[in-house]
Formats: sequence, structure tokens, C-alpha cells
Amino acid sequence: MHKIINAINSRTFGLLVLVFLASCGIKDSKWKGQPPLKKVDTSTRPIQFQLKKTYEPGLGVYLSNEFAGARLNGAALTGPDEVSVLITPENTPINSSPWYAFKVWSDKPQNIHLKITYTAGYSHRYYPKLSYDRKNWLPVDSASCHLDPAANNKKESPKFCIIDLPVNKDTVWIAAQELIVSSDINRWAENLADSSFIQLSEIGQSREGRPIKMLEIDNPESNKLVMVLSRQHPPEVTGWLAMKAFVERICENDSLAKAFRNEYCTYVVPCMNPDGVDNGHWRHSSAGIDLNRDWEAFNQPETQAVRKFMQGKILRKNTFYLAIDFHSTIEDIYYTIAPQLKGNMPGLVPQIIKAMAEDLPGYDPNIRPNEKDALHINSTVSIFHSFHAEAFTYEVGDNTPRDLIQKKGELTAENTMQLMLNR
Ligand SMILES: [Zn+2]
Repeated sequence: MHKIINAINSRTFGLLVLVFLASCGIKDSKWKGQPPLKKVDTSTRPIQFQLKKTYEPGLGVYLSNEFAGARLNGAALTGPDEVSVLITPENTPINSSPWYAFKVWSDKPQNIHLKITYTAGYSHRYYPKLSYDRKNWLPVDSASCHLDPAANNKKESPKFCIIDLPVNKDTVWIAAQELIVSSDINRWAENLADSSFIQLSEIGQSREGRPIKMLEIDNPESNKLVMVLSRQHPPEVTGWLAMKAFVERICENDSLAKAFRNEYCTYVVPCMNPDGVDNGHWRHSSAGIDLNRDWEAFNQPETQAVRKFMQGKILRKNTFYLAIDFHSTIEDIYYTIAPQLKGNMPGLVPQIIKAMAEDLPGYDPNIRPNEKDALHINSTVSIFHSFHAEAFTYEVGDNTPRDLIQKKGELTAENTMQLMLNR
């Protein structure tokens, strides 16, 4: 995993961010984030399943979506050496986070133009990454990746992207972000659980029957608790990488982490939406809904499992002091609780963010507090109001350099541990 993170370096991604922001017409002002959330129905709705197959559009080129996390909904020959793929969402309406992942190979060595296109109304968002072993990923060289030129002229989001791609009989994986599916996450969690102070359990099952796994990072005797969530939204891999760095830092064997584990018990659900992740969804669960809008109605098994677990802890006289939900968006952003609202450790979240700014020279955190009367429909607001845990949603930029994500995850953990031990 370190290889992956290090491979995608700061310079490459800094450039990509600039290209992306320019293509979106966004200048240097801070990303405003989402408008206040509106209530949405989270009852189960049908989704469109992908036809799992190997496409043979011509030229002796093959494209397949026959693996977990894949998304590829069609392929056709659209020019003498151009193969176009179609990427569609699981259902609509849906936020524009068009995940794609597929593998390509060819009967003979040749260079093709691979055009990634989307359902009408949606734009290209994720800069393509390549892998030749499914494990190590690199962004496509910028000279070989061409965004929809019409977008630049009209200052709109690009509708497609064309990759100059050499292909041969060896498989190349192409994906929107590093491919990290539920089996990868479970393997990571199982490895962590080799430590005597970490337990791995199952708090429920997804709608399609995949386990919702939870790590418990001791002390089991402690009644002072921290809750960590990730991957409610399948493509949000950068949030997952930050969560991973955060959790691994808490599990280290230095005096800070040991002292923290002695006083607090941390619970981690590293994959809230395994169905969406493994089915290559843009955003929704297999119920066709946004799980991060279901924290008031609790219509879905994934959110129900976490609520039931947390309620059980409260009944046994435990206290949740902090909850962090890791996500990804265009740029790094913190969604916090309205500052006038006090939970079980008032001021903790602003202190954590301030400490981050002090540790990272030049880092000016983008903080977007929720309204005081924000609906209780997402995890952060719901957990704050139900359990009085100080809470925030940590959104990590899609293109934040992977080494910086690692650093931010570790520093978030260090500052959280120090500040909570000082209380
Ligand atoms: Zn999200």
C-alpha cells in the first residue's frame, strides 16, 4: 500500500488539481462544499445491474468488468483506432461521482485511443489511474490524457477523457481511483487484528449479505469511546486512505498511542457500503440510496447496524466522545457541527483542526460548520445529536497527493490522541 501512496506524488497531483479546477471554472477561492442537506427518501429503490462480460469492440481489443469494484457499461469502436467506453450510474438521481474501473488487453501490441464517456448529464471527474498488477497504481501520464476540449473553451466540466493507451496481451487495469474493494479492506483489517489489542468482529450484514466489519482497538475495559467510519460512498478512496493512516497511527507502539489505547477504546467500521464498493457504484448502496442520508430514517441494514451497536454501548454506560466519518470530494474540507452546540467534549474538533493547521506549514483548513438546525440525516449530525459525540466529516480531496493524505491521517490521529489525553 505504501508503494501506491508514494507512487502518486505531490507534483503530479498538484498539477492535476490545477487542471481539474481550471476545467471546472474554479479559481483560487475556497471550495464551498455542499449546500445544506435536504431530506430525501431512503426507502429501497431498484438499481440497474451491470452486465458482467468481456466486450470485443474490434481491433482485437478486449475490455472486461468481470471483477469486484468494476464499472463498465458498454464499449464500441468509434474511430480507426478509437475505442469508446460508456460509464453509467447504478440509478438516478445521483451525485456526479462517476466511478469507472475495467481491464483491457489486446491480441497484438498496438496503440489505441481509449475514450471514457458517461451517461448524458454527467461529467468526467476522476483522473484515470493505471495498474498492471491491480495493486500498484499510477496516474496516466499527463501527455497521454486529453480532456474534452469543448469544456475548456466553455469553462464547463469535461464530458469525456481520451487516453493514449498502448495495449498488448497483458492486462492493464484502468480505474477512477486506486481499486480498493471489500476483500482488500477485510484483508487489511484481518492483518491489523493479528495484534493482541485489536479485535475484528461483524456488526451486521449489508443488504446483499456482505459482512459489515468492525475493528475494536482496546482498551475493552474503558467506557470512553471513539467511532470511526469510512466508505459510505464507494468511490471515496482518498477518504479511506486517510482513515487507514489514522487507524494505523492509533495502533502504533509508541508511548502516545499506548497511553491513548489505555484510556480510550476506538471502534472502526472501515467499509460501511461493501455492496456499493464491490458493485462499482458511483454513490449508492445496493438499495439504490445514499446511505449518508439514512441516519434519521434508518431504512437500511448498514446504518441500522452501526446505530444498534452504538445504542448497545450507551445502554452499558459507555460514552462516545468523538466520531469521524472519512469521505472524499473535490478538495479537502471539514464539515463540523455548529460551533454553538456542545457535545461530550466541547471544543475538541476545532482544536484538532487548529493543531493540524499548525503542524502543516501553509495548510489553511477549509472548515464548513453545519447549520445549528441541520437535519439529522447524515452520520456526523445524527451521531452528535443521538450520542453527543463531538463529530466531523473529514472530506479528503480526490487529487490530494497520496503521501500528503498519509501525513494528514497520521497527524489527525496524533493531535486527536494528544488532545483527548489532555482532557
Ligand atoms: Zn462522501
